[in-house]
Amino acid sequence: MLKRGDIPRTEPRIRVGLVLPEDHQTTLHITFSPPRSYQIRETGIPVSESLSLTVEENRIRWEGASSDRLTLRRLPSASVDTSLRLHPVRAGRGFHWEKHIPIEVTGDLILSVVEGGMLVVNELPLEDYLMSVATSEMGAECPTALLEAQTIVARSWLLAAAEQKHRRWDLDACNDDCCQRYQGRGHITPHSRRGVLNTYGQVLMVGDEICDARYSKSCGGMTERFENVWPGPAQSCFRALPDSATPPDPALRLSQEQDFQRWWTEAPPSFCSPSYIPEPDLPRYLGSVDEAGSYFRWTLTYSQEELCRLLRDQLGLNVDFVEELQPLKRGESGRLIRLAIRGVREGQPVRSVLESEYEIRRVLHRGFLYSSAFFVESTPEQPPSRFTLHGAGWGHGVGLCQIGALGMALAGYSSQDILRHYYPGTELSTLYTKDSS
Ligand SMILES: [Zn+2]
Ligand SMILES: [Zn+2]
Repeated sequence: MLKRGDIPRTEPRIRVGLVLPEDHQTTLHITFSPPRSYQIRETGIPVSESLSLTVEENRIRWEGASSDRLTLRRLPSASVDTSLRLHPVRAGRGFHWEKHIPIEVTGDLILSVVEGGMLVVNELPLEDYLMSVATSEMGAECPTALLEAQTIVARSWLLAAAEQKHRRWDLDACNDDCCQRYQGRGHITPHSRRGVLNTYGQVLMVGDEICDARYSKSCGGMTERFENVWPGPAQSCFRALPDSATPPDPALRLSQEQDFQRWWTEAPPSFCSPSYIPEPDLPRYLGSVDEAGSYFRWTLTYSQEELCRLLRDQLGLNVDFVEELQPLKRGESGRLIRLAIRGVREGQPVRSVLESEYEIRRVLHRGFLYSSAFFVESTPEQPPSRFTLHGAGWGHGVGLCQIGALGMALAGYSSQDILRHYYPGTELSTLYTKDSS
């Protein structure tokens, strides 16, 4: 497992969780290509074409055998094209686009049973992993500059090892949006492979630290400060900046309600706006799991009854009706970081405050709200019959804006221009080369 503060000088092997205990998965089918290219380390027996695995009584079972741990290791004689295909694997855990997909990976597989469910870990060299991340996060049709920037950012984020959300399972990352999207090598093309090889071993540095390069799908036109999304301290490269070539307007303060509403309505041209990428063109550039939709500006309406049900289910808050969703604090990108819900229960006023952008997004949508950069318009009667959220962007908005980076690449900017724009003050550094690994 990678360690925070370490700066590798050769290509590390990493551990990626493909099936997590929280998935409560008890069956898995694995196909080997070509057959007899892998062996079960515990028994030394090569596996032929496929394996069907189940979990029963805290053991993994297959073909009449069982074990509490199973390691599938590539035979030394196997060709470099050897791979494993796993089905099903959960993608988009807990989000509105969740689905089960088959994925094809290289490297070794370590299976165990944790808390009654499968834990499936893919152990592989970092650059092989990155080859898949670039085209899982964004489609393989993206311009080379975007794939290069995305790869450098994904490599930096992983090697900075600052988040490590699955440390308890000794994982460097999971396969999903919660960490970085890794859908195996099914989407790799010669073009995307080049994008990764061009940046082999390169990371962003902030002083003598690897940049903890956060990124999200669309900032909505302004990036957010790190501290407004996660507890600090933040590296100096995370600032709130307009996602455009124009310098910041000091008179525009999106943390102020009126400025935010005006800015939302005027929707000034941004790298992530339709003026750089027409929305009908977006689906072919986005990863295969993303829904086509409007991310720069979006609108969502709840009826009074729907909102009450949502608050009960997502927050355990019981109200007879909601009077107001009241913005209390916004970050520099307009993202709400405190929001009060005012309602009435059996004639008594009820108030609950959501204290972070994450909590606001979690509570206000069953599949996680696109972003917390929204203002609320409610119908005038009291209590209102409808609440409409007018929102901007998709994700936390800190660091690189993936759709904005795509807009920049399509407009002819290089990967270095893109990285300088989203992570000002960082330097590009090559930690290892292909020959030294
Ligand atoms: Zn994760
Ligand atoms: Zn943006």
